[in-house]
Formats: sequence, C-alpha cells, structure tokens
Amino acid sequence: MPLVGAKSANPPTRQGRWKSSSLLVMVLLCALPGCGAFRHNTTTGLPQRHKFTADQLVVQSDIRLPKNHPLIQDLEHLREEMAHTLQLPLQKQPVTVYLFADEVRYAQYLQTAFPNLPPRRAYFVGTTDELAVYTFWGEKIQEDLRHEYTHGVLHASLKDVPLWLDEGLAEYFEIVSSKHGFNAEYAQQLTEALNNGWRPDVKRLEQLGDVGQMQKADYLEAWAWAHFMLHDSETTQAVLVDFLNELRFDAHPGPLSDRLAKALPHYDERFVAYAATLQQNLMTAGATRIRD
Ligand SMILES: [Zn+2]
Repeated sequence: MPLVGAKSANPPTRQGRWKSSSLLVMVLLCALPGCGAFRHNTTTGLPQRHKFTADQLVVQSDIRLPKNHPLIQDLEHLREEMAHTLQLPLQKQPVTVYLFADEVRYAQYLQTAFPNLPPRRAYFVGTTDELAVYTFWGEKIQEDLRHEYTHGVLHASLKDVPLWLDEGLAEYFEIVSSKHGFNAEYAQQLTEALNNGWRPDVKRLEQLGDVGQMQKADYLEAWAWAHFMLHDSETTQAVLVDFLNELRFDAHPGPLSDRLAKALPHYDERFVAYAATLQQNLMTAGATRIRD
C-alpha cells in the first residue's frame, strides 16, 4: 500500500505520516521520480549530482557527502539498532534518501511532485517500486533522516504497520542511539499531562487511520507507548516484538491493545507507573546537564 510520511516544515512542531490507499495518491506517486517529467528540470528535479550506495541505503544528493560521513554511518547503525531492538531480520529492501541542498529547492520539488501535500521538513514515500525519503540539508537533518529512515526500514521489513505505531517508533528511533529513545521534551510534557489528569488511551490511537487526524499530542502518546513497551518489562517488550514479527507476514493481525490487555490486564495503570520512571529520568537528565 503506498504511503507518505512527513516531518514538520517548521521546527520544532512535529507532524506526521500520510497514509493513504486512495487512487489520488497512486496518481501522485506516478508523477514521482520515475516519470521523467521532473527528471530534466534542474530547478524542481530530484537530486542527481551525487549518488552512492551503503548497504541497504541509497543516497542521491545535491551536495557531495562522503560515504563515511557520520550521518550516513549513523543511518547504517540505525538499521542494525532497529533489527536488534525490535528483533527483526535486517531489512533487505533498499531505502533511497533524496537529499536536497536547501529547503527552497526541496520545497519546489515537493510542491511540484505532491501539490496536495502541506509543507513538511521531510517525507517518507513508500510504493511497491521504491521506499524513498525526501529531505534537505538543514538544522534537524539527523533527526529528520533517522525519523524517516525508521519508516523506511519498517516498511521494508513489514507488510504494514499501524499509523500510530509507525509514528511512535519513528519518534523513538529519531533520538540518537545513546539516549535509547528518550525524548526529554516529550517526557516533560507527558509528566505535566498526567499531573493534569490526562490518561493514556492506546485504543483511541488505534482508531487513527489518517495522519490528518493526528495531533502533536498523539505523536507524543505514540512515542510514550513505544517507549513503555520497549523498556517497561520483558512482557511488554515481547508483546511489541511478537506483534511486529506477525506484521512481517500478516498486514492485519488485530489490535495491539488486545495483546497488551491479555499480557497485562491493567496495562493502563502500568503505563502511568512507567511514566513516573520517565519523570525520574528527566530529573536525572536535568541534574546531569547542570553538572555538565
Ligand atoms: Zn513520521
């Protein structure tokens, strides 16, 4: 199923992935790289000046980027990190990163190729022919590349992945590896929300089928559920890992929340208790920053 994912054009606001099965998107995707209309237009065309392949990563960029550039090495490592963390086989299908020199050229291309999509800092577009990331050289390049590449690796490995979980894992893995998916800003907001009486509802997230429905708070909650499942206990980790491994062969294995409920009958309460440990991490992180 073709899908489109995105990062916000105006940092730091987080936006999300588009997922659509509509004919419209099929048509839009047909107007993509392969259909020469854009190939010969140097203003709006895809980056073609520099190209190299590193394992399952193909990079086409306006600017020269050595194969051993830390950003590229980071993505190669991310692929291994995801396979290890999610206990999935190393993805084989390549993901192509189209890296534009600047935001203007990137925006021009996106506007031409995807006229109906709002501006975002980065996109992931998956079709049966190609898994592609589009972004530009900017301040958030590492975060954006990691986020979109996560979508790419997931869709190279799985038949499908629910929107909320796709975004939750992309939010998790966009954080540099040494932080194990810990997003201090999100942790802070989560703590405040819980203190104000907000309660998690993964079943609600599971109903979200279109990125237009997803608000910033939904990305935060999706990240929190991903973090919870990966770090709360072996039980929660197994629920996620088993679910993802079923998605390798079955695009619709039923809601993840049913599995959580079966493994942990009071999983909502457990989530809230886990969030308190995130708050603890936050305090520790704050203390570390002061010492630094
Ligand atoms: Zn995303």
